[in-house]
This record gives sequence, C-alpha cells and structure tokens, in this order.
Amino acid sequence: MDKKLNNLIFVLNCGSSSIKFAILNPNNKKKYLSGLVECLFLSETYIKWQCLGVKYKKKIGSNVSHEDALNFIIDKVLKKQEDILKNLIGIGHRVVHGGAKIKKSTLINNDVIKCIQDAVSFAPLHNPANLIGIKIIIEKYPSLSRKNVAVFDTSFYQKMPETSFLYAIPYNFYKKYGIRRYGAHGTSHNYVAYQASIMLNKKFKSLNIITCHLGNGASISAICNGICVDTSMGLTPLEGLVMGTRSGDLDPSIIFFMNKNLNLSINEIEIILNKKSGLLGLSGISNDFRYFEKNYYFKKHAKRSVDVFCHRLSKYIASYMSLMENRLDAVIFTGGIGENVPLIRELTLSSLSILGFKINSEFNLSMIRGKSGLITEYPSRPVFVIATDEELAIAQETNNILNKK
Ligand code: AMP
Repeated sequence: MDKKLNNLIFVLNCGSSSIKFAILNPNNKKKYLSGLVECLFLSETYIKWQCLGVKYKKKIGSNVSHEDALNFIIDKVLKKQEDILKNLIGIGHRVVHGGAKIKKSTLINNDVIKCIQDAVSFAPLHNPANLIGIKIIIEKYPSLSRKNVAVFDTSFYQKMPETSFLYAIPYNFYKKYGIRRYGAHGTSHNYVAYQASIMLNKKFKSLNIITCHLGNGASISAICNGICVDTSMGLTPLEGLVMGTRSGDLDPSIIFFMNKNLNLSINEIEIILNKKSGLLGLSGISNDFRYFEKNYYFKKHAKRSVDVFCHRLSKYIASYMSLMENRLDAVIFTGGIGENVPLIRELTLSSLSILGFKINSEFNLSMIRGKSGLITEYPSRPVFVIATDEELAIAQETNNILNKK
C-alpha cells in the first residue's frame, strides 16, 4: 500500500443509466480507485472497476436500480479498501442542474438538497439520480456528512449573455419560472478549456475556443475570452446535438403532433425524446458508437445515424465561429466519442473545409484511447483532441470548497 495515501476525495457521478466513481488525490492527481456501473434498469447490469492497478468486472444482476448499484459499490468494492477509506477527506458529487438559485459548487446541506430537488423538472433524468447518490453516501458515511460537495454542470454557464440564454417566448416565462438555457457538461467543457489554454500557451482569459463534448450525452460550448458565451444544451440536457438516446434540437410542433395526432401522452413523448431517440432512434439498433464505427460503411441505418450526428455538429461549430470576435484559437473534441472515434472528427471537419479546417488523417487516426493532441495540418485552423477527466475536475473543485471552509 502507498505510504503517501492521504487527502483523498471520493467522486460520485450518478447518471441516468450509469454510475461513475473514483477515489483520487486532487493535488498529485493520482487515482487509487475508479469504476463504472453500466446499463442500470436493463437485463444485465455490469460493474467494472480498477483498484491500485488491478482490474475487475462483475455482473451485478438484472433490472438493477441506482440504490442497488450504490450499495454494491459501497459494500463490495469500497469496504475492502479500508486504508483508502480511512484517508477520505471529502466527497464530490456531480450534480447536473443547480436551477436558477445555485450558481457555483457548494457544501451540501438541507437547503442545497432542496434546491437540487426543486431543479428536478430542469433535469428530470439526472437530478433524481444525483439526489439518490447524495442521500445514500450521507447515510453510509456519517462521519463525512459535512464534507459532501455538490459540483454543478450548470456553474460554467453563469456568465452567458442574455442573447444566448433567452428563448424567444414571452419574457415573463423567464422572469417568473426561470425558463432559460442553463447548459450542462460544464465541468468537462471547463476542464478541457483549461487544458487547451496550457497546450496553446495562452492565458485562460484570452482563450477563444469551441469545445465539443461528445459522449452518450453531447454538447458544444463557445468560449470567448475565457467565458462561455453560448452552449447547445438548454433548459434541460435534451436540447442541442444528436445524442445516444436524446433527440437534441427539434421543432417543438413535433410534440403537439405526437400528442394530438398520434394520441401519445406527454409522459410517453418525454420518454421517446429522452430515451428512444438520437442514435438509438435513428438506427433502431444501438446507441453505442462502437457499433456505428464498425457498420458505417456497410449498413444504411448506421450511415444515416452518423451522418445526421455529424451534420448537426458541423452546423453548430460553424455558427459558434460567429461568436469568436474575429479569432478562433482551436476546436476541441472530447468525451467517449470525441476522444475515440476518428470517423466522427473526419466527417464533421470535412464539411467545414470552407471555413479553413483541414484534417491530417494520420494524426486523427492516432488520437484515440485517452491521447490528446493536434489532428489538423498547416494551414488549417487548429483542432485538438483533449481527454476529459471530470472525476479529477470534481475532486479538485471539492478540495477547493473544503479548504475554503
Ligand atoms: P461517455 O458518455 O463520454 O462515457 O461516452 C460514451 C460513448 O462513447 C458511447 O457511445 C460509447 O460507445 C463511445 N465510446 C467509448 N469508447 C469508445 C471507443 N473506444 N470506440 C468507439 N466509441 C467509444
């Protein structure tokens, strides 16, 4: 066991259908334990984890809930790591939506829990899962109950101008009910933007970049002079890019059509747009990008799905260039798809050649499995792949909040 084991932070990211967790030292960035539970509520739920370099994989069961999975993590994975647990100084929870009231990371108390609860309608798939994680961790680790920190996806977007965050609906809906664009994935966009400032040797506050976080959830942010000036996710994480199972942008009239002409209830439509659309809906087969990569050139439904995904992404990149005040330092790809799928980067950038992008195939193909680097060639505008590390970002933020106390 590592003798320097100290000041460890447990990071919990309870998603809608998966749970990511990690224990790490925010100062030296060393990860002692990390893991992932996938396919909650499906026929087979698996957990993969890695502790001190050793990898494990197990089937937990079928139709596994967040509670069951968290109990497994606590009782079967963490309990055996007494030395690591003894050195925990805090717990950082990813929370997707802070609603209108919470603007930055904060220590969790009953008021904060109420605000997260109040914002459930703004992140109906995510905030309830985040709350389950917070409740179980506080119950199971009472000695750390005052050391739980909520790190919000929405914090990064607090300085967005009104022109970006307002919807063109009666203004009163914003003033009275907080209906506006809030954004999500802010922790990841902020992390890769910071990494980009190091790679480009530029001060963060003079950075002009476009960051594309492409995972099962996907979003894009325009960052000008180090401030996020627009982003694709909206009131909820449903708006914007094509995602694994979420539709992203659509004509709101589709909802009226489904309701009035197809007799689908609002609940049914919510499920269709959040869980049965995106890549899964377009292909009718899968939302796993490994499937699309393998089948793009062979199966019509795979090509159709990927082409819609890239078309939407190219349009956003092109439109966000107009927010860059005459200088774009770089475009960044990150997330499970952004970091691992050269095909997506190639298709997206090839349709942007008119705007000065030229991919280098060799660089592009080599940027996979956590590698970060340039994928374009001179005289192209620079495009980088940068591996995100939301767990590290949450651990560092948690540590900052605990130190401020
Ligand atoms: P995330 O939500 O960031 O964890 O990303 C999940 C998405 O990334 C899923 O669509 C995965 O299929 C995709 N993904 C992760 N690793 C790979 C890989 N090595 N090759 C292709 N797609 C991948």
